[in-house]
Amino acid sequence: MKLLEDRIKRDGTVLPGEVLKVDNFLNHQIDPQLMSEIGAEFKRLFENEGITRILTVESSGIAPALMTGFQMHVPVVFARKHRSLTLTDDLYTATVYSYTKQVNNDISIDKRFIDPDDKILIIDDFLANGQAVQGMLEICKAAQVKVAGVGVVIEKRFQKGHKMVLDQGIHLEALASIASLDDHQVTFATDDAE
Ligand code: 5GP
Repeated sequence: MKLLEDRIKRDGTVLPGEVLKVDNFLNHQIDPQLMSEIGAEFKRLFENEGITRILTVESSGIAPALMTGFQMHVPVVFARKHRSLTLTDDLYTATVYSYTKQVNNDISIDKRFIDPDDKILIIDDFLANGQAVQGMLEICKAAQVKVAGVGVVIEKRFQKGHKMVLDQGIHLEALASIASLDDHQVTFATDDAE
């Protein structure tokens, strides 16, 4: 998505540890117009999949997920993060290692907000090593619902998550795909070869 790539080039900074900082439009300050375009693009990419609900994880997934749900006219549910859970009877839960914060979080959603008939679209801000997406896939598996696709705003294709999602036969779409962050430079993947 050219608009997004241009914005990353303009405002993104590369931090140590192969982290791309995009906190002036996605992770702290949020650009609503850009999020709206992102929602429209995810709708275009997934509109034939029969999506009934969008699943994301707090907090940075919420903005793109919300705009996608708005475009697709489906509800958006975000998994909540907790350090550890004791009462889990009413919840679907998975443990996720956070790439940027380097801690384990339990993520959970209330069982009331997922139906056995759902076709889920998972949305997140970044796909790096795939832990957050894998946690959401585990929740979907526990809830016995179909996952129609995974949409990420930015993927770092050189990390493990891209292959991990494709190896499970899941329809993956990334609106910006980064091939490398070497030398503090953002290089986008120029072809669509998976
Ligand atoms: P994963 O679970 O795929 O390893 O990492 C995904 C999560 O870590 C995302 O939800 C995002 O919040 C965070 N993350 C991973 N890599 C980056 C990055 O380069 N920049 C930012 N801002 N967040 C990242």
